[in-house]
Amino acid sequence: MATYCAICNKKAGILGRKQIRDGYICTDCFYKCKLDMDMSCFSVNDIKDRYRYIEENREPFKNFIPTIKIARLFEVDENSKLFRTRKGAECFKFSDIVNFELYEDGDAVIKGGMGKAVTGGLLLGGVGAIVGGVTGKRKQKSVVSNMYIRISLNHRWVKNIRINLIQTQLKRSGFLYKEVKKSCDNIISVLETITNKQRGEEVAVTGTVSVADEILKFKELLDMGAITQDEFDKKKKQLLEQ
Ligand SMILES: [Zn+2]
Repeated sequence: MATYCAICNKKAGILGRKQIRDGYICTDCFYKCKLDMDMSCFSVNDIKDRYRYIEENREPFKNFIPTIKIARLFEVDENSKLFRTRKGAECFKFSDIVNFELYEDGDAVIKGGMGKAVTGGLLLGGVGAIVGGVTGKRKQKSVVSNMYIRISLNHRWVKNIRINLIQTQLKRSGFLYKEVKKSCDNIISVLETITNKQRGEEVAVTGTVSVADEILKFKELLDMGAITQDEFDKKKKQLLEQ
């Protein structure tokens, strides 16, 4: 029995057709989505919306002018508040970022950008503290064979993007690792700046953040080991007494 593409109604050959939630789409319609992933969670409507999204953003994305370029891994257009991994890759808005993590051989060694806005400045100087706290806790192996940054997005079609940094064994003491690490640190610091700024804007829009939200934020920091129980108790007391 022949299968027809749920989008264009042309015959969708067994080779190359992709399953979607309510049928199949042909290779052409799949490529038009510009999503290199399993499509089975998307419906015909999702895909039509995706085409519309691509169409609507063609101009803004085409006008992407990088003000920051880090190796061939990460590009940012600060003026239009967009970023992408490389030329020609899909652009995302700063406001799409939920959080980001650096993975080394399967372990998240840096986490940043998570949580709700906190007014009045963060204890221990913000996200950098989490980074230091988490990194400081683990013993480092002398060789790394896999390293990437994962940026989680609040985006209808793309839930996260990965910036692959290391995919082959590298000595931590070697020149190559140090070069990659330099780029990695730069990307992380740009991501921190972006998410901090986004949070700042959220605060400006929403006004104040509730005491409960603030305590929750510090509880997160406590749970991930970035602050001690003592520091948490002190901050909590302080917040409740405000
Ligand atoms: Zn089709």
